[in-house]
Amino acid sequence: MHSPLPDLSGATLTVDLGAIRDNWRTLRGRLGRTACAAVLKADAYGLGADRVAPVLAAAGCRHFFVAHLEEGIALRPHVPEAAEISVLHGLMPGCEDIALAHNLTPVLNSLEQVEAWAALARRRETRLPAALQLDTGMSRMGLAPAELDRIAAEPHRLDGIDLRLVMSHLACAEQPDNSANGMQRLRFDVARRRLPAAPASLANSSAIFLGPTFHYDLARPGAALYGLAPTIGAPNPLHQVVRLQARVVQTRIIAAGDAVGYGLHFRADGPRRIATLAVGYADGFPRSLGHRGAAAYLGDVALPVVGAVSMDSITLDASALPEGALRPGTLVDLIGPHRSVDGLAAEAGTIGYEILSRFGRRFRRDHVDAAPAASSPVLVLEGVPS
Ligand SMILES: *Cc1c(COP(=O)(O)O)cnc(C)c1O
Repeated sequence: MHSPLPDLSGATLTVDLGAIRDNWRTLRGRLGRTACAAVLKADAYGLGADRVAPVLAAAGCRHFFVAHLEEGIALRPHVPEAAEISVLHGLMPGCEDIALAHNLTPVLNSLEQVEAWAALARRRETRLPAALQLDTGMSRMGLAPAELDRIAAEPHRLDGIDLRLVMSHLACAEQPDNSANGMQRLRFDVARRRLPAAPASLANSSAIFLGPTFHYDLARPGAALYGLAPTIGAPNPLHQVVRLQARVVQTRIIAAGDAVGYGLHFRADGPRRIATLAVGYADGFPRSLGHRGAAAYLGDVALPVVGAVSMDSITLDASALPEGALRPGTLVDLIGPHRSVDGLAAEAGTIGYEILSRFGRRFRRDHVDAAPAASSPVLVLEGVPS
């Protein structure tokens, strides 16, 4: 046995795997007979795909989505061999053999990708699994209407392709009243009838809450698994998954007229206790949160951010606390019981997706799992400070 290393990290991101599992079950419960996949792109929105995937696989999830081929290759060892991993970006030219070798299912987004995959199937004299994505209005990924026309007119283009899924993606699903949702669904239905029969998928997290007509055969939630609110203006039915605690580097007392931070834009109107935390914009804490009054918390006490956000630090007005309450190394909540990811994002003028997925590589990540029956979280493995 050797003595434990001191914690060298400036902040700890605690990821509650049990909450992610509960959220997946909540979504699956909403879906009735529709299967529930899990989207693990961008390292499970920054929370650790290698840790999230086995938990969801054990809960019964059999279908995972990533964005890049490399993400699929990295994920493969962490899910059962029989689980399907679909790659949303499909195939870059020349990557077909690599996708096949790693048992990854491309989401084919263009005629060119369809042709390349079908050609590999011919060479291998086999049928190869694929999803086909249709552009129903986002103009981002998937077959354009003219490409669908070509495939509908020349169905042999799909020869050799085992069509596992026909899918599309909604642009406005978090706004239940937006007429674009129904419009995209209609286009999806019309397009599907022109293709060979295959299971269908349209719903991301938010669309699960648009009702059963959006569910089809498979839903593809990401954000909701990680605790983000699926519907704008509605209560969030999901558990919060992350807690972010940053360390105090040092504290000081400043006098009336003293300034804080780059640009000297904050000036104290009286004596203030200032605490510097070891998190900055290089860690994904948005620079736009400078001068906004956004608060960190020690227990229930709000400590407003004052001054600009630096690359490696932020400064708090800790005057509400008694002397000595904050010491070097003390952990202060940036996301926690008083502040959700969505709340922080709103103050920064962005969305929770961006906050989560940009959390810094410098954070220590602790994955905990509050087993369903247990009353308090059990630490299953400590993150390794890197
Ligand atoms: C990211 C993504 C999802 C997951 O979306 P959430 O809003 O995070 O649930 C589903 N489908 C596609 C095509 C995506 O790009």
